[in-house]
Amino acid sequence: MRVLGTGVTLEDLLQSFVGAMTSVFRLVLEAAAGHPFQLDERSSKVLRFMLSDARGCDVLVKDEAFEIRYGWHPAKHRYFPDLAPRVLSALLEWSGLSTTAGSCQATVGPKNVAQVGSFPSWSFGRRIVWIVLAAESLTISIRDGENESGACAPTPLPEPIDYPQVVVELPSPLPCPRCATAATTYRELSDGALVCANCGRSFRKD
Ligand SMILES: [Zn+2]
Repeated sequence: MRVLGTGVTLEDLLQSFVGAMTSVFRLVLEAAAGHPFQLDERSSKVLRFMLSDARGCDVLVKDEAFEIRYGWHPAKHRYFPDLAPRVLSALLEWSGLSTTAGSCQATVGPKNVAQVGSFPSWSFGRRIVWIVLAAESLTISIRDGENESGACAPTPLPEPIDYPQVVVELPSPLPCPRCATAATTYRELSDGALVCANCGRSFRKD
């Protein structure tokens, strides 16, 4: 065993690294096992995006990633991964399931979701939800429940019409350093730079 500095072993460091990498997914597994995480303003907002439009979405939660591809938008939207356990808890509760293991399909809605904090109430129609929990990933697919009842697998979302885009949702408005327009949504380039929707110029977020 190699000791680094003040009694910290390489194993300790690796352990803390692995722990940090998978901490959010560990909470997702807790939610799947029936430990409920409460809905808050941010998770209610993401769920409204996921459920209120009948064109549905595909969700991937893995390590520190929480990505959603909506049926109405060719880009992948990236959210803060700490929202994932709350989103899963709400979907399980609303579909009448308390836990999930492996894969399951359920019907959810129509439903009115009460106001949480400053986030207003909203509603959605009948949806079918597929939840697939694997050792290191969670996928959720949501489709229109009026037209797709009885389907054993979600119909694929339309292919992106453009090159894959990534959209980043920020927790609070960020002003563009070029034109000063503030926004919470920015397109992200492959090098991590953000693109302002107002002036079209890109910048680095520090
Ligand atoms: Zn700008």
